[in-house]
Amino acid sequence: MKKVFLVITILAVIIICAVVLWNISKARTFQFFGEIYPRVNTNEKVVALTFDDGPTIKTDEVLSVLSDLNVKATFFVIGADLEKNMSQGQKLVGAGHELGNHTYSHNRMVLKSYDFVRQEIEKTDSLIREAGYKGEIFFRPPNGKKLFVLPYYLNQHDRKTIMWDVEADSYPEIASSSEMITKYVMGNTKPGSIILLHVMFDSRNESVKAIKGIVTGLKQKGYNFKTMSELLKYNISS
Ligand SMILES: [Zn+2]
Repeated sequence: MKKVFLVITILAVIIICAVVLWNISKARTFQFFGEIYPRVNTNEKVVALTFDDGPTIKTDEVLSVLSDLNVKATFFVIGADLEKNMSQGQKLVGAGHELGNHTYSHNRMVLKSYDFVRQEIEKTDSLIREAGYKGEIFFRPPNGKKLFVLPYYLNQHDRKTIMWDVEADSYPEIASSSEMITKYVMGNTKPGSIILLHVMFDSRNESVKAIKGIVTGLKQKGYNFKTMSELLKYNISS
């Protein structure tokens, strides 16, 4: 009987630990090592528009929308996509946007070896430099997932993890309509917000369409759009 109780207790502890670690792995505000920003702590009406994945053939369309709106954004690119579409990456840099590192393969960076993490990050950094980007390269984990090794590596190399606090097109019921995406962003953005959108795939036409409404709507409310490196300058450490 004692043995059964012990086994049940051990199993319960393992399950609780697994649940806690799983929640930590997807937390936007906490990681075990290094700096992480789900938003920037400021009272000023400044926000950053960030785009994940790509670059793909959708780049030209997105660039034209942003150019019409006179907004500079931050693109967290996938190394493998950038390698295939280097000219699109160069266009992003040429237009004055910032490039961030979203790993080479877009694998979940949990339970991966130190060497795997290093290669994913360094290979993508080199490609970003090849695209001509000269600024600080921020990092965003695929699917926002990180646990031990990734934050450890990033911290060792003085790298900042950039998450988000406004995520409109990850919820299928909102992502299917540009009006809903815009409404969600308008309702959830506050000073220092980091807005995340996915615009690099054909399935994301509604997200591309939403950019105009988001930018004009937030500008009407007095917001200014900043790149990630500009936005971080507004951060008041608490
Ligand atoms: Zn992604």
